[in-house]
Amino acid sequence: MISDRWMRRTVAGFQPYQVAPIHEKRVINANENYVNILDIPSVREDAEKLLSSFRPQIYPAPMADSLRESLAEYMGTAPDCILAGNGGDEMITYTMGTFLNPGDRVLIHQPTFDMYEAGAAVLGAETVKVPDLPGFHRNWEGLLEAVRQHSPKITFICSPNNPTGEAAPLSRIREIAEASEYPVVVDEAYMEFANGKSAVSLIPDHPNVIVLRTLSKAFGMAGLRCGYIVAAPEVILAVAKVKNPYNLNAFTQAMGCIALRHRREILKVRDRITAERDRFFKELETEKGIRVYPSQTNFLLMDAGASAERLFAAWRKADILVKRFSGKPELEQAFRVTITTEETDRMVLQVIREVTHSA
Ligand SMILES: *Cc1c(COP(=O)(O)O)cnc(C)c1O
Repeated sequence: MISDRWMRRTVAGFQPYQVAPIHEKRVINANENYVNILDIPSVREDAEKLLSSFRPQIYPAPMADSLRESLAEYMGTAPDCILAGNGGDEMITYTMGTFLNPGDRVLIHQPTFDMYEAGAAVLGAETVKVPDLPGFHRNWEGLLEAVRQHSPKITFICSPNNPTGEAAPLSRIREIAEASEYPVVVDEAYMEFANGKSAVSLIPDHPNVIVLRTLSKAFGMAGLRCGYIVAAPEVILAVAKVKNPYNLNAFTQAMGCIALRHRREILKVRDRITAERDRFFKELETEKGIRVYPSQTNFLLMDAGASAERLFAAWRKADILVKRFSGKPELEQAFRVTITTEETDRMVLQVIREVTHSA
């Protein structure tokens, strides 16, 4: 049997990342897009063309040159400001691998995306957490103070934040970047769903800002795995040192270009999702027995208080899978619901009413 002594010390106590088998008919737990982009005729046509000339025996372009150009055009930057990889997750791993030594500190706000703390733990770095203020508003003064006190090697700002939905004002991100002598990663996985401006505009004056993006959410490509960072060219060169030579497969590189070429069509789905999010938020806001938080993303976070357990069981019974959080005391009674269609949201609401009105 394999022994704990085989293990890298920093990971010996880890539990494997568990994704439970999904049985529910409506799956709204992972912030996936509900539209298949291959059902958009212009996208399908280009994907079929791609397949007819595709050569799987050839290694992909190491720096994903064509995709890099498409992403640069989309983000309004130069191609040498972009590095693409196998999902935003891989870009988080690479960024940490570039900058962190064992014993270094990483700064995060709490609650946020789990990958930052997990990635830091693998490398033997310590995570400093600044809890949100009541209502899940970021504690900006607390974060600034933590930057000054701990000199974190990386500060992660998730904006808009998963799972709270709150976007960070650019002025706050600028303050953090100015106070920090090390990289500040702004995770904009959900930025396409937000009204705010991207932190990419800060990069020319603040070369320690690294913006993280993905095609998994608004572009509906979670299964193809494509994420990227936008940063100063020197930062891109630094992070490229730790990447695997052929980290992004050729099919995904080409599909990324196709998705960006047809983004006007694809982002119409995003418009439907944000409109439905705002409609559903208003509806939930007046529901007694549940508290919903404003969101700039494709999901809503809600707190069900004492009804949480019964509500979760009732959704299961109604064949709806929502996201719950384990190991986060501040979210023990909370749910995160991905926004898809009005029809699904009506069913979500019906279950809420059945449970909270019978309490
Ligand atoms: C989904 C997500 C990502 C990246 O996901 P990938 O599928 O790996 O691109 C990054 N950050 C946050 C906060 C996310 O929710």
